[in-house]
Formats: sequence, structure tokens, C-alpha cells
Amino acid sequence: MKNLIAHLENSATVFLATHVNPDGDALGALLAMARALQTSGRDIVMYNESPIPAVYRFLPGIDQIAREVPSPFDFEAVVVLDCGDLERVGAVADLIPGRAKIINIDHHVTNTGFGHYRLVDPTASSSTEIVYRILKAMDITIDRAMATSIYTGILTDTGSFRFANTNSRAFEICAEMVGCGVNPYMVAQHVYGTYSLGRIKLLNMALDSIEISPNGKLSLMTLTHAMFAETDTQPEDVDGMINYAKRIEDVRVAALIMENANGHATAANGHKRYHVSLRSDGSVDVARIAASFGGGGHFNAAGFGLDGSLSELKGLIYTIASTL
Ligand code: 5GP
Ligand code: MN
Repeated sequence: MKNLIAHLENSATVFLATHVNPDGDALGALLAMARALQTSGRDIVMYNESPIPAVYRFLPGIDQIAREVPSPFDFEAVVVLDCGDLERVGAVADLIPGRAKIINIDHHVTNTGFGHYRLVDPTASSSTEIVYRILKAMDITIDRAMATSIYTGILTDTGSFRFANTNSRAFEICAEMVGCGVNPYMVAQHVYGTYSLGRIKLLNMALDSIEISPNGKLSLMTLTHAMFAETDTQPEDVDGMINYAKRIEDVRVAALIMENANGHATAANGHKRYHVSLRSDGSVDVARIAASFGGGGHFNAAGFGLDGSLSELKGLIYTIASTL
């Protein structure tokens, strides 16, 4: 941590990025870290490849997140947040010059250990919790804007203090953030109380799509491009839906297959790109399953991308069921 902080403090220009299809933790960590560096006099650029989900657009500073890669790319430090591997930032991964000093801040158990400086702690509730620790170590005064990002990151990554990563530090930090001026009701209203009608209709389709494996231990939810088109929704609107499939009695693993929203075939053989999310009831390590398909994540929440046809993919998911 000392070397990481020394490098950050010695860098006048910092590029900060987080994973594609960002969640509350990715954005909370990005915004809090960037604002802390900005208020202590550094030039920063925040980057994310994907559109910002509507429910997070209230976060202070969110409008400053760029979707274009700066050119020329010349920063003294590159901070990568909430990414188990560098490729999770998207296409920009290939554009980061070899000489750039990469700082890897993350809490995924499958983190590959990329970068020149690392603070990877799988016992942390969230990447935002790690950013909080860094801010404290840097003696940054946490203002209300930073506190709102930190609070939102921890709140969402712990599923409102319900998931297995909920620890005492999550409560302590959030209580401190409320002391810094965060309004918990306001945050909850934005994150959980302002869904579009299309999102609710999509939820209806998602619930209707649930199938259970013959042994009852795996549930499968499927979201197709046609469903997104019919409800005028985006992949960001799927956030949290898999938890309904996970709640079913006797289910150990819930899987959500999502067709990438543009719906275009990626190969001449008609194969499409899918993202698979996995959730466990705590008895199965889904990070290991996801890693065997080239993805990663946490013990209870993981994911991977795959090309293929929907029927092939379902067959593959059912082979997982038979191992449970
Ligand atoms: P989700 O299912 O919500 O997309 O992701 C669950 C967890 O798995 C998150 O912590 C996320 O970062 C991780 N994850 C999801 N997809 C991938 C992937 O393709 N590669 C890796 N390394 N991690 C993933
Ligand atoms: Mn996270």
C-alpha cells in the first residue's frame, strides 16, 4: 500500500478506469478515487467504455466520465478499479502504453495480479471499501461527494448489506459516510426506486423465462435481444434480476444468460455473443466455474462471456447442474 500511495502522490496526471457495464461499486470506487486525487491537485481523466446506468446518474461527478480514450495517452499513473483482469476495462486495455504504471485496486478472488502496484483484498466488501482505506492513508478529507460515492459502492455491492461479503467495516464506513452528509434515503430512492416502466416489463419477461434443471439445483434465466428491443431496455437494466432465480428453494446456483443487446451475430456461423452471470447460495464456488470458461468473479457471484447459440449455451449450463 505504501508504494502504491507514494506512486499516486508523485503522479501529476492520472487516468482512472473501471469495468465495462459498470455497477455501483465500479462507479463508486472510480468517482471517489478520482475526486480525492482531483481535490489534492492532480489532473485526472475518468474513463468507462459503457453507457452509465440511469440509476447511477445522480452520483457526483458522473458527467465527467469519458467514453473516448484520450489521445495521446500520456499519464504518470493508470488506476484500474474493480477489475479482476486488465481486459475487463474493455478495448482501452490494448491502448495503454507499455510504459504506463498501472495500479490495480480490486477485491475479486480471481484477480490476476496485473499491474505494477496492487491492492487486491478479497476480504473487502467492495472495491470502494479499499478506496476508502487509500483515502484515509492519504489523509484526504472525505467530502459529501466522495462520501456519496463510497456509500453507494458499498451499499450496492453488498446487496444492501445482505450478501456474504457484508462485513463490519461495510457498516462502519457507511455510518461514517452518513456522518459526512450522505442521505441514505436519497441514495436508496435513486438506486432502487426510480426504475423505468420498461425495466419492470423486462423483469416480468425475465421471471417468466426461469427454468430449473432436472435435479432442481440450478435455475436458469434468459434475456434475449428481442426482450430488450420490446421493452426498450439495455443490459444495465438487468442489474439484480438474477437474484430472483437464486431465491428459489433448493437452488444452489442461478445462471443468467444475456444476449448482448445489439443482437448481431459475431461470426459467419451465426454465433452470437452472450454474457453468463452465476450466483451461488454459498455452497458452490462459482468463481471457479466462471474461471473455467475464461471469466472470473467472487465465490458467490461470477460471470463469463461466450460465443455460441442459445441452445448450445443452455446445454452447457445444464452440464454444470449435473455436477452440483
Ligand atoms: P455479473 O454477473 O454481475 O456481471 O458479475 C458478477 C461478478 O463477476 C462481478 O464481480 C464481475 O466483476 C465478475 N465478472 C462478470 N463477468 C466477468 C468476466 O467476463 N470476466 C471476469 N474476470 N469477471 C467477470
Ligand atoms: Mn465490486
